[in-house]
Amino acid sequence: MSRVYNFSAGPAVLPEEVLKEAADEMLDYKGCGMSVMEMSHRSKVFDEIIKDAEADIRKLMNIPDNYKVLFLQGGASQQFAAIPMNLMKNKKAGYIITGQWAKKAYQEAKMYGEAVELASSADETFSYIPDCSDLPITDDMDYVYICENNTIYGTKFKTLPNTKGKDLVADVSSCFLSEPVDVTKYGIIYGGVQKNVGPAGMVIVIIREDLIRDDVLQGTPTMLKYKTQADNDSLYNTPPCYDIYICGKVFKWLLKNGGLSAMKELNEKKAKILYDYLDSSKLFKGTVRKEDRSLMNVPFVTGNEELDAKFVKEATAAGFVNLKGHRTVGGMRASIYNAMPIEGVEKLVEFMRKFEGENA
Ligand SMILES: *Cc1c(COP(=O)(O)O)cnc(C)c1O
Repeated sequence: MSRVYNFSAGPAVLPEEVLKEAADEMLDYKGCGMSVMEMSHRSKVFDEIIKDAEADIRKLMNIPDNYKVLFLQGGASQQFAAIPMNLMKNKKAGYIITGQWAKKAYQEAKMYGEAVELASSADETFSYIPDCSDLPITDDMDYVYICENNTIYGTKFKTLPNTKGKDLVADVSSCFLSEPVDVTKYGIIYGGVQKNVGPAGMVIVIIREDLIRDDVLQGTPTMLKYKTQADNDSLYNTPPCYDIYICGKVFKWLLKNGGLSAMKELNEKKAKILYDYLDSSKLFKGTVRKEDRSLMNVPFVTGNEELDAKFVKEATAAGFVNLKGHRTVGGMRASIYNAMPIEGVEKLVEFMRKFEGENA
């Protein structure tokens, strides 16, 4: 067996320990003679798995009692519609456009009401986070929406926008569980789990209880009503059982390794190694305004497309894979999520130095 250093933006690297544990339990989960994939979601064994998972994420993120945790299908993109359908009482909301995922959410919301662009960084290819201290938020807006960490462009909100009292809704797919958060600052925090937490196919929605309502937009499918999911503890229909099980293991792995403060410290250390090198390199450079740099997704370029391609090819051969930048921006991107060990980043930088020496 040989494992590579996987810098994929998502689906992405998972803790090896978790994968091994899952492999050990594949045929016989804790003596019940079957895999978690094969058991009823109404069984006692699975009930314990989902309850444990919820308790552990609550502990990790310090989630207050007046917030529900929902484990849902449809990925993050399904929420682009679910959010306006459930929250647009006045049929109006503000969106901050910091990249493709925020833009997709904004465009989807337009199908259900008036989505207002409050700010955007499109003018400089989303390489920064706009000033959000005094946005044109109006009283009739139902919520303010952000994508907190921009997976494709490598930017992150270091301070949350001033929402002027409106509920903040945040897509945290690519920074989920990467650092401590103050849940009370949000109405909804949600993320697809395949970036930093688990296998693709599930989204976790953390929602303040008063936002779970019956008076949703007419035509909202039963499955997309938060109330349906909350009333049934994410078991209205068959949930993504195996995904919940793996995420639960990742939560335990995080708790065992010191929780989110320890993760933040480690993630800062990892990112610093890479950014420090990028700032000193004559060949490679980061594409994001320094103060807005993400700890999770690090895009960089040489400025020469042929050299970029050569780098990606040689890196792949050396066991550093999935470094090609997003198709819309080109260059390279190293995603260094929780499960990327610090050695992976150190060795990548070593490899980049060597490449720089050979191609300067
Ligand atoms: C990947 C990603 C999405 C889309 O996730 P799906 O689960 O594929 O729908 C949405 N938002 C962000 C920030 C992402 O990184």
